[in-house]
Amino acid sequence: MVHAPVRAPAGAPKLRINLYSDTQTRPTPAMKDAMMRAEVGDEQHGDDPTVDALCARMAALTGKEAAMFLPSGTMCNVIAILTHCRKGDEVVAHETSHILHNEGGAHAALTGVQILPLVGPRGMFSAEAVRAAIRPRNRYAPPQRLLEVEQTANIGGGAVWPLAQLNAVAAVAREAGWATHMDGARLMNACVAAAIAPADMVAAYDSVWLDFTKGLGAPLGAVLCGSAAFIDEAWRWKQRLGGSMRQAGICAAACLHALDHHVARLADDHANAQALAGALARLPGVRVETPETNLVFFDIADTGVAEASLLARLRARGVALSALGGRMRACTHLDVTRAMVDEAAALIAEALAAGP
Ligand SMILES: *Cc1c(COP(=O)(O)O)cnc(C)c1O
Repeated sequence: MVHAPVRAPAGAPKLRINLYSDTQTRPTPAMKDAMMRAEVGDEQHGDDPTVDALCARMAALTGKEAAMFLPSGTMCNVIAILTHCRKGDEVVAHETSHILHNEGGAHAALTGVQILPLVGPRGMFSAEAVRAAIRPRNRYAPPQRLLEVEQTANIGGGAVWPLAQLNAVAAVAREAGWATHMDGARLMNACVAAAIAPADMVAAYDSVWLDFTKGLGAPLGAVLCGSAAFIDEAWRWKQRLGGSMRQAGICAAACLHALDHHVARLADDHANAQALAGALARLPGVRVETPETNLVFFDIADTGVAEASLLARLRARGVALSALGGRMRACTHLDVTRAMVDEAAALIAEALAAGP
């Protein structure tokens, strides 16, 4: 759903305030130092000490037995689904989920599962909705194998599933005999916002992964966690898909650095998102969804200014946002300060005041 990447139109000034995505952070000097100092080995052989340290740390953090380092979150979802499911199985997930819309059709092309989309506000659904989705086990119905949730729900507005609701939907899945998987691309945002420890947040889920490139500031990397047997099986898919790496400790060091230095500060991103939402809510015709984490979604349909015009006017002033199917999205992250947020709000006000 994310629009074209931020490409500067001819003559546009340098991008100064990047609210396009929390994936666009640059590694800090301290992170680069940690990468350069990393002890490395052969990840594929299981003897890269820095990757091992990251996996042990992530397993402990999520309360799972084992973990696996992968290049991206998409590969975590694909491998988790390949491991939990067989071709023709059904995965139950929200209608706005990343697996349905943003993985290039990977689940048709590679995993062979079908996805049953559930509805519900802010990217979440109820235990009743899951119960209503349970199919009879007979030769006509696709075998249902997996429940998938996103914490935070991206297109849901960066919303945080309340722990009780996460546990309730997982309990229905378990009763139905399904496995449970959490797309935790922004899990740490949820944990910081709700002040809940990651292991408690994910306790009801068989598998979970965290992205280190979403506001945590690493150049690449995601870690998939689950039982020892699950990760063992997942390794076969990692190998098959070409996700096994070599001296990957250089990248794992960036992730370890992020865990040490970039988690608690996510609260600043959330405060900046609140500040931006507050400023936007005062503009005539702008409808803002109250942010729970670092994503600020707003609707400018009533301002008379087209989304493309707003994007272009802001880009001409060195500011990038994104437009996702009728909603604008501004994303706060490591490289966005409070002063930048205040300036962006003022520039958005100016761009909208200029009229159609
Ligand atoms: C970004 C994202 C992914 C995919 O992660 P990549 O590292 O970009 O492959 C999956 N799910 C959600 C909710 C995301 O926001």
